[in-house]
Amino acid sequence: MELYWRLPVALQERLLSSYARRLDRRYYGGVFEEECGIIRSRNFRSPAEVEKWQLESLNRMLDAAVRRVPYYRDLLRTSHRPLHSLAELASLPRLERQRIRQHEEEFLDETLDRKELFQDKTSGSTGTPLTISWPTTPLQRFWAAFEVRVREAAGVDRNVPRAMLGGRPIVRGDTEKPPFWRYNRVWRQLYLSSYHVSVRNAPGYIAAIKESGVRWITGYGSAIAALAESATAAGVSPLPLDVVVVSGDTLQRGMRRSIEEFFRCRCYDSYGQVEGVSMGMECGEGRMHLIPEVGIVEILREDGTPCAPGEVGEMTATGLINDGMPLIRYRTGDTAALAADQRCGCGLPHPIIENLEGRVDDYLETTDGRRIGRLSTAMKRSPTIHSAQIVQDQPGHAYLLVRPGSGYRREDAVAVRDDIVERVGDVDFEIIEVAEIPKTPKGKTRLVVRLSDRSELRRDYDSILMRKAG
Ligand SMILES: [Zn+2]
Repeated sequence: MELYWRLPVALQERLLSSYARRLDRRYYGGVFEEECGIIRSRNFRSPAEVEKWQLESLNRMLDAAVRRVPYYRDLLRTSHRPLHSLAELASLPRLERQRIRQHEEEFLDETLDRKELFQDKTSGSTGTPLTISWPTTPLQRFWAAFEVRVREAAGVDRNVPRAMLGGRPIVRGDTEKPPFWRYNRVWRQLYLSSYHVSVRNAPGYIAAIKESGVRWITGYGSAIAALAESATAAGVSPLPLDVVVVSGDTLQRGMRRSIEEFFRCRCYDSYGQVEGVSMGMECGEGRMHLIPEVGIVEILREDGTPCAPGEVGEMTATGLINDGMPLIRYRTGDTAALAADQRCGCGLPHPIIENLEGRVDDYLETTDGRRIGRLSTAMKRSPTIHSAQIVQDQPGHAYLLVRPGSGYRREDAVAVRDDIVERVGDVDFEIIEVAEIPKTPKGKTRLVVRLSDRSELRRDYDSILMRKAG
């Protein structure tokens, strides 16, 4: 990275392009095209057909795990038998991230050549980082699922020039002059720094997007919304694109509106994680469908029992693609509910989830030590609130940061606060109106920040909370 930053922009771009060329062969070579064809022609007609297909894939995965993966050989040696329904998954133990950390080697297929594995790291922003290893074929099958079920579902594909607004530090943080973007010729991708978006810089960003000829944008919803809003504030006229596909943080209502108004197109939300055990994509009806090829998702209570339809719980996922590092009943840490009504006007019989809201550790702590999560529905209560965040500085005391949207009145924030207090009980809340909800160092927006756990963020929040006090 140090070397990268010392290079002139043109060389940085060549470096990015050659990096992309290497990834391109790994992701989109081999079985990729064939697998795309298989997924396109796989036309599930009912939830029962989805389940039947997933059950067969699951049994293949379990079988491979018991034969070649030391952790599962030890765990399931005596009890392994083919499952007869997805519900029988519940007979297997749940898998904690911490356990993988302790036994990383034992989760790998022992017959694989370690040097051939592609490795991806989870960010660790919400706990311990994890290395996920992928053999070549599963990696290509994973990208095929993404290509067909996410990009093609949004009406684009990997060959349509795109812009990416992401968390990679491609431009030094202290850079004050454009360009705050780098062009990757191999993927015809304009990579824009999410850290430099501001009203001052927005006209340059939009001009760069226009000039590069990209047709769609992907990246963090909060960052793309910030760009749309900064550009609007700077007086830049809207830039019509084909589509925007966001992922990575919770897309709050005001963010979606800003994106759709500025880019004059549909904004689709999507869901995924580095572990590659589940993936979701919003359909034309605005509902989030899970992608059957990627994994099986159970929504569970803390005690491991299944949630009722509509009840929010932890997403626990069994990956169906990566047989080189099988993760069975993996606790993703994200929460959602299975929709009570699984029928959708779009016609897809893929399972539908709702109230997807980031991490389980987005909770408030009361003075008696209770942890209250699942606060997103309360925070979505008022349509005049652009976005909001709860910041807890000590048990029993918190701030509700509110970024006003159009038509906002103070009472709207009070209503949201009262709704939260009703759920939480003895937490004292102060409302602070802010121009911007602070982001994590990776550029994402969290719903709840507990400063006791995130001391590195304390300085960012001090100025906001002090301003209130002063
Ligand atoms: Zn649908």
